[in-house]
Amino acid sequence: MKIRRFYDIVVVGSGPAGSMTALFAAKNGASVLILERDREVGIPVRCAEGISGRGLEKFFQPDERWIAQKIDGAKLYAPNGQSCIMKAGAVGDGYVLERRLFDSFICEEAAKNGADIITKANVHDLLWENDKISGVKFNYLGEAKQVKSHIVVGADGPESRIGKLAGIDTTLKIGDLETGAQYLLTDVDVDRKLTHFYFGNDIAPGGYVWIFPKGRNMANVGIGIRADRGNGKNARNYLDEFVTKNFPKSRPLAFITGAVPTAKTLPEITNNNLMLVGDAARQVNPVTGGGLSNILVAGSIAGTVAAEAVKKGDLSNKFLKKYHKQWMKEKGNHQKVHHKLKEVFFDFSDDELNKIVGLLHDIPQEKLTLFQLFKTAVRNKPSLIKELVKIYL
Ligand SMILES: Cc1cc2nc3c(=O)[nH]c(=O)nc-3n(C[C@H](O)[C@H](O)[C@H](O)COP(=O)(O)OP(=O)(O)OC[C@H]3O[C@@H](n4cnc5c(N)ncnc54)[C@H](O)[C@@H]3O)c2cc1C
Repeated sequence: MKIRRFYDIVVVGSGPAGSMTALFAAKNGASVLILERDREVGIPVRCAEGISGRGLEKFFQPDERWIAQKIDGAKLYAPNGQSCIMKAGAVGDGYVLERRLFDSFICEEAAKNGADIITKANVHDLLWENDKISGVKFNYLGEAKQVKSHIVVGADGPESRIGKLAGIDTTLKIGDLETGAQYLLTDVDVDRKLTHFYFGNDIAPGGYVWIFPKGRNMANVGIGIRADRGNGKNARNYLDEFVTKNFPKSRPLAFITGAVPTAKTLPEITNNNLMLVGDAARQVNPVTGGGLSNILVAGSIAGTVAAEAVKKGDLSNKFLKKYHKQWMKEKGNHQKVHHKLKEVFFDFSDDELNKIVGLLHDIPQEKLTLFQLFKTAVRNKPSLIKELVKIYL
């Protein structure tokens, strides 16, 4: 493929953050290039593939090509085995995706709107002119290449290097890092219309085990634990214990590991003609560890603002910060609250978790929302109210 020397916007990474940004930038008239270091868009999948109905349908019509399973609710299990089912509000309905195909679909949409994509293109440095970023350097099929642009978008995932290269402090506190491990398992006999979440300090310290059904008795069975709470065991050790106990007959068809930044959005996500989006900007929901719904929103804003900046010829950080402001208004401020809730929720003792699920158990499924879960959690930790008030003042 012939590589042009200049694009309005170069996007590093073809995950949902990069493709969504590219799609909205291209739709709004910018010339866009996506550079992806892997050989194919959408692989490897490092995700349990769950997304809320609301999060997905805000942007795309669900398509059976990339939906593995429609979900009606979530079942929460306390350490003592008692459970409750939530079927109302944001957790009520959702989907388990085929992420490989979903990522590819968004990228295809970006391409349909004119974006170019190059895979096997590993970006290793930024180009600078007059103290401003003016493009990227990358290796493509063993050759050193470079491409110039008005704006560079770092959508290079949780281990993002682009932010650091641009001089942005992307350091994650150890308490804001979940380490994840997941099997795609056969023979998982659970209610496939529900996602299943298991809590407990011996099961998943500082996190939870999830079962996300994918049809034909297959499911993503995974775990996220807080990086500093493993007590000498890693995420895989905990997951193996869970699987051996609960699904001894199942067989793994795939295994993945990955990190999830369960932080607040970075204080700086634009700088010197650069924008950070997705895990690179720390835009994941800190309670659930889910990034997809938030990232679709972030990418749509980032792409629109980037194209507008190019059209207006205003690449100042003041203009690019419109993205940051709008993101905070739409999702980032909620994310701050979720961050605080995460700190409290994953600090509960097993007895407290048993008590909370016990209280929720009596609420009818169709009326049980995430809000009620948080309300019950807050009742068990009144000091949290003071902390939440601080965020809003
Ligand atoms: C185990 C696990 C389970 C999860 N489950 C869920 C879930 O069920 N639901 C949910 O909403 N979220 C989930 N998440 C989080 C979700 O996967 C992420 O939030 C999401 O993938 C982030 O999207 P992104 O586009 O920002 O980054 P990524 O999807 O990580 O994409 C980044 C892309 O950039 C590319 N790249 C990186 N560096 C370079 C470079 N130098 N040059 C070129 N390309 C580069 C990578 O190859 C990759 O394709 C999970 C995460 C983990 C680890």
